Amino acid sequence: MQASVPIHVPQKANTSLFCALLCALILFNIPSAMAQGDTLNVYSYRQAFLVKPLIKAFEDDTGVQVKIIFSKKGLLQRLKAEGKNAPADVVLTADINRIAEFAAQDLLQPVKSTTLDANIPSQFRDPDGLWYGLTMRARAIYAHKTRVRAGEMTTYEDLAKPHMKGRVCMRSGKHPYNISLLASIIAARGMEDAQAWIQGVKDNLARRPQGNDRAQVKAIAQGECDVAVGNSYYFGKMLTNTKKPQERQSAEAVNIILPNQNDRGTHVNVSAAGIAKYAKHVQQAKMFLEFLSSPKIQGLFAAQNMEYPLLSGIQLHPLVASWGTFKADDTNLSKIIANHTKAARMMDRVNFDN
Ligand code: FE
Repeated sequence: MQASVPIHVPQKANTSLFCALLCALILFNIPSAMAQGDTLNVYSYRQAFLVKPLIKAFEDDTGVQVKIIFSKKGLLQRLKAEGKNAPADVVLTADINRIAEFAAQDLLQPVKSTTLDANIPSQFRDPDGLWYGLTMRARAIYAHKTRVRAGEMTTYEDLAKPHMKGRVCMRSGKHPYNISLLASIIAARGMEDAQAWIQGVKDNLARRPQGNDRAQVKAIAQGECDVAVGNSYYFGKMLTNTKKPQERQSAEAVNIILPNQNDRGTHVNVSAAGIAKYAKHVQQAKMFLEFLSSPKIQGLFAAQNMEYPLLSGIQLHPLVASWGTFKADDTNLSKIIANHTKAARMMDRVNFDN
């Protein structure tokens, strides 16, 4: 972890030199974090390659340097163990359950910001300001273009129906994306129906749950299964992947379906951010969150990562726009968070991964 390095001012500093430094700070409006030689520290569950362009834009615009620690797991435990000495100022997560866990463990501090409140609709942020959603993503259904006939797959419920026997692929039931989906079904249909549903999905699996969201698209293309569940942006990223033509080929065999349009709507999740409880650079952290909600960065999220911006009036990526407008399940995210533990236990009860 990088320690903060304050600028050393000699005790017998030349007065004019000191004045020049002060004037430079005032003239160029250099944020105090930079003046102190400090760095804004970000703990991120969001992948580094997604976050780097945003960080660079923030650094260029504000002069505040950002250090990002990326990890797939263990950041909450790390922050907890570090306690008051934690260098983290900002926490970024790729889903609602993880940010809610930070909040539940008292690792975040409330943020008051009229900018964030204006930019992020209330259903996508914590009522107490502990975290803010930044982008929205649909938990879509991927379906083979010809092996899945029109009308065969229009709802999450269809995944559990007899006509899908042996045709479904899923990633692990322990992954937060799938736990959130199950939590949304508990919220919509109750415990009994939700358990019957996830058991039905398990019974229809073509193979043991494995791989990430992109791997589900590949499995469909390779004929291992006909349908799967995955986030909307992965599908877009695969279709436009110029570096890995095989990803593109896989995605070209597959359709994306935004399910449940005739009832509650498609389950959506958000990427989110909060300020760490013991942040050393609270003002800069707040500035960073506000920056992430600004038109410039919301546009970048849409253009580069093919997510749905939460700030209204931002243009979607043309490919994402081509999937059409859709009805999102508007169940309050706090209700989904409240069902998280129940959903995780339910996955274990049906022994989903085995
Ligand atoms: Fe993701």
